[in-house]
Amino acid sequence: MARLVLDKITKTFDRTQVINGIDLTIPHGEFIVFVGPSGCGKTTVLRMISGLESTTSGRILIGDKDVTYVEPSKRKVAMVFQSYALFPHMTTAENIGFSLRLAKKPKEEIKRRVAEVAQILRIEPLLTRKPAQLSGGQRQRVAIGRSIIRNPEIFLFDEPLSNLDAALRIQMRLEIARLHKRLGATLVYVTHDQTEAMTLANRIVVFNTGRIEQAGTPMELYDNPANLFVAGFIGSPAMNFIPSQLTHAGGKVVVKAGSVAITVEKELARTDAKEIILGIRPEHLAPSSPSDKDFVARVEIVEELGAESLVYLHNNFMTDPITMRSDPSIRFKPGEEVPIKINRAKMHLFAKDGALL
Ligand code: ATP
Repeated sequence: MARLVLDKITKTFDRTQVINGIDLTIPHGEFIVFVGPSGCGKTTVLRMISGLESTTSGRILIGDKDVTYVEPSKRKVAMVFQSYALFPHMTTAENIGFSLRLAKKPKEEIKRRVAEVAQILRIEPLLTRKPAQLSGGQRQRVAIGRSIIRNPEIFLFDEPLSNLDAALRIQMRLEIARLHKRLGATLVYVTHDQTEAMTLANRIVVFNTGRIEQAGTPMELYDNPANLFVAGFIGSPAMNFIPSQLTHAGGKVVVKAGSVAITVEKELARTDAKEIILGIRPEHLAPSSPSDKDFVARVEIVEELGAESLVYLHNNFMTDPITMRSDPSIRFKPGEEVPIKINRAKMHLFAKDGALL
């Protein structure tokens, strides 16, 4: 069983610490996705797990074995890169079977295993072609095949789909989900793509400046972000942030922003903050009757996407326009003033420093 444990790992490049003590346990069979802004350390952590990058301090365990100082080829991990990294002069079959040939496995065994892998990935007709004769998606399948054949305990995928066009990305996303089900292996996956992260992951880990901000199931992160950073990072379109004040009236805590005044019903961790940020997702705003509104906003732009409309609203107490996700059958006109209601149960309140209240 290939449980993966990162125990307070750090990494320093030229005296700059880029990974600042990561603690993470990934159970056997989990599909875990790393997300975070560019340069936050996702790829570095993946390379540290693979052994391609050394670990400055802390330990990496695969199963119960400490592999921190074990060379990459002995770690039972296989990495799939964004660039595919196929050998251009080799056929698909030769590329997939390369590691077995290197290990001097018998020809018959290599042939049988290559055929098995090709069948899993549905690339049997491509076995005699060279990479230049394959499409991007087919090349990525060959790259995945080359990792599967090694029977690794852990698969490491570094943005494997980002070179593909949108339609192919969706198709390959489904393929990867199927593959994970079929192999039952532990899979660590780095992506910039929100939808990939939300749809593929058992658990998402949000990184920021070499640290973990939050790890949880996609819906945990979406519904209960631990701080302002995660709230703004997970979700597309992003959560709206409205600068607000926390006031106290008649023993109650009230959030105020312009004409908005909402009594907070839930228990807050902190009630001492004055200037706060009210977070609300686009689907938790709705047009309302004038008597029931929280505020009136002016429609700036409407994006009609077919299944939904995104309505960009502005109002003088907002620093930036906010987005409302709406039923496309409701037509909004730019310039129109619309009464809006906030879904109280779905509000998130943050201190100025980003901590959840
Ligand atoms: P992206 O999403 O852009 O790929 P990332 O989250 O994967 O980014 P990393 O590639 O892990 O980020 O980089 C983390 C930090 O480490 C960055 O500041 C980067 O400049 C630095 N870094 C990475 N590799 C090296 C290296 N070999 N030498 C020096 N600094 C490095």
